[in-house]
Amino acid sequence: MTHDIAVIPGDGIGTEVTPAAVEVLEALEIDFEFHEADAGDAVKAETGEALPEETDDLAASADATLFGAAGDTAADVILPLREAVDSFVNVRPATAYPGIDAVRPETDLVFLRENTEGVYAGHEDRLSEDVSTLTRVVTESASRRLAEFACDYVEDGAHDGFTIVHKANVMRETDGRFRDTVAEVADERGVATDEVLMDAFATRVCLDPEQFDVVVCPNLAGDVLSDLAAGLVGGLGLLPSANVGPERGLFEPVHGTAPDIAGEGIANPAATILSAAMLVEFLGYDEAGAAVREAVEATLEEGPRTPDLGGDASTDEVTAAIVDRL
Ligand code: ATP
Ligand code: MG
Repeated sequence: MTHDIAVIPGDGIGTEVTPAAVEVLEALEIDFEFHEADAGDAVKAETGEALPEETDDLAASADATLFGAAGDTAADVILPLREAVDSFVNVRPATAYPGIDAVRPETDLVFLRENTEGVYAGHEDRLSEDVSTLTRVVTESASRRLAEFACDYVEDGAHDGFTIVHKANVMRETDGRFRDTVAEVADERGVATDEVLMDAFATRVCLDPEQFDVVVCPNLAGDVLSDLAAGLVGGLGLLPSANVGPERGLFEPVHGTAPDIAGEGIANPAATILSAAMLVEFLGYDEAGAAVREAVEATLEEGPRTPDLGGDASTDEVTAAIVDRL
């Protein structure tokens, strides 16, 4: 079976790390057909559009999309692309790797962040010279869909259950609904849950990340807390992410265009290659995904490494080492 993969490198180091990840995918014994398309600052400068219609159509029809990064136009690119794949959950692992400097090397957790509503779907208004407001949206249907995904995730990965993060003691209606719905679905499915208030979570994850494994959050909380966890494992440079929809997915590194090193050929490709591993698993090739992850982990530990990790290897050298290990 052929899988159509949209490849959208974007700007900055996106144009360096995305081809690296494609090279790794090509080394697998899976029948991929890659379709490259433009998005971001560069194509906007050329055509006036940050997200050309053909790119949007491609993401909406491909089996999965691999995205690099976009510069100033990031919001104009990534938000519509997430919509094009109908993504309702953002999956963000925060894993520390052996041999990589981390504040909390024992960290190994994954955030499942609601990706469509909360304050980000909210309507903002200016009521007067003095007053601005925001409406926060939480639906039973989106909470249920996230919870079903979380239950599948726990079952597939043989996790013990998940932690629901919320602030239902203050936002009783919205987060109350979120917490109750998610807990109810987990109950129906026989999946164990516990719950932590989001402010308490921030402290507890810093002090003792090992007490958490799978963490289910509303949109804004998931955004902030997963960045916090990124700090615990050594920064954004190594972190992959997946935007998952019912039929399609969009896979991207957490980092941006890194303008300070773009064009030098020294960007660390690990985050994008780990995102490609998530893509492979999303398509059902669990063993191939695990193999990619192991090749990346071994390379992080034994080298070669890019300068951000204290090495002096290029993007190409690190990519070749990962492909060799496969
Ligand atoms: P953007 O506006 O596109 O997000 P940024 O200036 O915020 O760009 P990031 O891409 O978020 O930059 O990166 C922040 C810092 O981390 C930069 O110093 C960058 O060089 C470094 N960095 C990020 N990703 C990588 C990578 N893959 N390899 C090496 N360094 C990286
Ligand atoms: Mg940034």
